Amino acid sequence: MKKVDIIVPCYNEEDMIDLFYEETSKIVGQISGYQFQFIFVDDGSRDKTYEKLQNLAGKKDDVKYISFSKNFGKEAAMYAGLFHSRGDYVIIMDADLQHPPALIPQMIAGVEEGYDCCAAQRTSRKGESKIRSMFSRMFYRLNNRFTDVDLVQGAVDFRIMTRQMVNAVLSLSERQRFSKGIFAWVGFQTKWIPYENVERVMGQTKWSFKSLCKYAVSGITSFSVAPLRSAIFLGGIISFVSFVYIILTLIQTLIYGIDVPGYVTTLCAVLFLGGIIELSVGILGEYVAQIYVEIKGRPIFILKNTNLNLAEQETKDE
Ligand code: UDP
Ligand code: MG
Repeated sequence: MKKVDIIVPCYNEEDMIDLFYEETSKIVGQISGYQFQFIFVDDGSRDKTYEKLQNLAGKKDDVKYISFSKNFGKEAAMYAGLFHSRGDYVIIMDADLQHPPALIPQMIAGVEEGYDCCAAQRTSRKGESKIRSMFSRMFYRLNNRFTDVDLVQGAVDFRIMTRQMVNAVLSLSERQRFSKGIFAWVGFQTKWIPYENVERVMGQTKWSFKSLCKYAVSGITSFSVAPLRSAIFLGGIISFVSFVYIILTLIQTLIYGIDVPGYVTTLCAVLFLGGIIELSVGILGEYVAQIYVEIKGRPIFILKNTNLNLAEQETKDE
């Protein structure tokens, strides 16, 4: 019987745990021929998420949990889940039921058809603010233009992957993880399953506008050095324009003599160049920051508690 692990990152989801488990196990209970196991990852929640998980695990054999020492972010939680999963197939889904469990049978069918991955694609952004959707569309356009990974509009983290693909994803061991890009970068055949956006049942989103912007920047800088190169491009254009301007000014001075001092031109040039230089230093800084974080090689997550049998996992891995 094939084993399927369902990884669920949870951060302050005390209201959702039981409901999520109930709804999802109802669906997977109807799929025969597979052995499902839940791996909940408590990402350093401040509410009763951990207690809820312990409680649930006490009652249900198919519930495993991993608990972090603090909040490391959803990316780290997904990584930890993948890292500790041993299933033939692995499903990643959110705890807030925004990823409809009803898609799971289709996903399983997809990988059985021979796809390496079967992922959900949101076709509408119902319930999301207009500005947020606009920025999101802008991000996809920018990202696909500047990086060598093509992100699919509306692709979410909800997906099933084969063991082979999971191992490939784990082999990208970067600290600053941008999973949307990583999933695309590792390649393999992905089947997309469209679905309508579902609004959160309880609790609230953990994303602020600021964190989304940070996420977008890390997405582009993790997979492209185009912004770095843009500094060369900008520098080249400005040098060329300046050169032409210098020649023209020299000729003008030789023919007409020295004119009234050009206060406005000087000011414009200084401000414009200052801006460009700041921008370039900023871009450079962004990459240096990435190198800094990577070079320290800190762990992606720190595990505090789990009911997974880690000793057994280690012997199996050897
Ligand atoms: N999440 C997490 N760590 C965090 C933030 C979120 O594990 O630091 C989990 C959260 O519990 C949920 C999933 O990631 O299961 C998606 O989070 P959220 O619903 O806030 O994001 P959205 O659906 O708005 O993109
Ligand atoms: Mg959500």
